[in-house]
Amino acid sequence: MPTPPSALVPANVARMIPYKPGKPAEELERELGISGALKLASNENPLGPSPRVVAAVREAAGGLALYPDGVAYALREALASHHDVTMDEVVTGNGSNELIDLICRTFPGRDEHVVYGKPSFVCYWLGCTAAGVPYTEVPLRDDLHWDVDAMLAAVRPETKVLFLANPNNPTGAYVGEADLRRLLSELPERVVAVIDEAYVEFPDAPDYVSALELRHLRERLLVLRTFSKAYGIAALRVGYAVGPAALVGHLHSMRAPFNVNALGQAGALAALSDSAHVEAYVRLNAEERPRVAKALEALGLEVAPSQANFLLVGFPGSGAEVDAALLRQGVITRPMPPPLGRYLRITLGTREMNDRLLQTLTSAALAPFLPPAPPAAPGESR
Ligand SMILES: *Cc1c(COP(=O)(O)O)cnc(C)c1O
Repeated sequence: MPTPPSALVPANVARMIPYKPGKPAEELERELGISGALKLASNENPLGPSPRVVAAVREAAGGLALYPDGVAYALREALASHHDVTMDEVVTGNGSNELIDLICRTFPGRDEHVVYGKPSFVCYWLGCTAAGVPYTEVPLRDDLHWDVDAMLAAVRPETKVLFLANPNNPTGAYVGEADLRRLLSELPERVVAVIDEAYVEFPDAPDYVSALELRHLRERLLVLRTFSKAYGIAALRVGYAVGPAALVGHLHSMRAPFNVNALGQAGALAALSDSAHVEAYVRLNAEERPRVAKALEALGLEVAPSQANFLLVGFPGSGAEVDAALLRQGVITRPMPPPLGRYLRITLGTREMNDRLLQTLTSAALAPFLPPAPPAAPGESR
């Protein structure tokens, strides 16, 4: 649909809506006049940042009068060494969100096309719509599981970019090595495959691999990583992409000057150096994920198999109503748009945080939203 000359913005811009983040705990506390709200809505590290990060950010604060390093030299050098690649194969962004947006503005023209799955990360839609690029959303099997064949089938002669989150947000599902190899090998050469590995630290499935291990399979491959989840510095907004210098170079040309601020650069560098902090969280998550899933299933709830730091939990009725009831108890989770309207995405916290979630779910206030308890077996005392 062409834009009338008098329109304030082009049609694609008119379709944009502001991204709706998880409710901040302070906002709920203000609304309810309570303290100690529990936020399990945005897949943040419940252990907080590494103490090394806090020290590095304090120190960097002394230099706030100066523009940051425009090429993030020290951070990119550390990332290159971490991944055993060259510095010109790494570009940092103001969160990996910025890189998703940049990819949509850099590689596909308005007469080309992008493929991504649904339900998945909403930023692929935001990026394509902002750039005015046509896209196809490929439904997940049962709305929950990746369908690599359907994604390959959605590729057209003009397809330029394919996004795949592995593991996926909000389902927690993953694509195993065999399917990922097939996807990367069978995609036509011209397509830039973007594997978004925001949750790469958390999988324990034996057949999960990072696409960084499969770079030999195709030239046009970008792998996205973030410091917002396992590394525990979502507030600093740092993500990065690894890929061939030819692709990364175009992202450097398209990004805003000074896109990663000085505190972000210093904090990410310190976070990268504290692998023990990340490992402690990953261990905690690996213990809590099956424990909490089992407890939720014992309540009769549907729990999607997750390889990430959150669970997608299906309720008998409207997820929005469960969300509202949980909010009244001071617990913030993430309701989902259709087709996942019955689901909440719940971030796994510390053992204590998860216990509080489970206690809230089993309290009288939430009883109307849970499946009815199964009748007691004959002779069983309740
Ligand atoms: C959280 C998340 C990101 C990370 O976003 P940042 O901008 O780096 O904070 C990227 N992709 C997916 C799928 C995510 O869930």
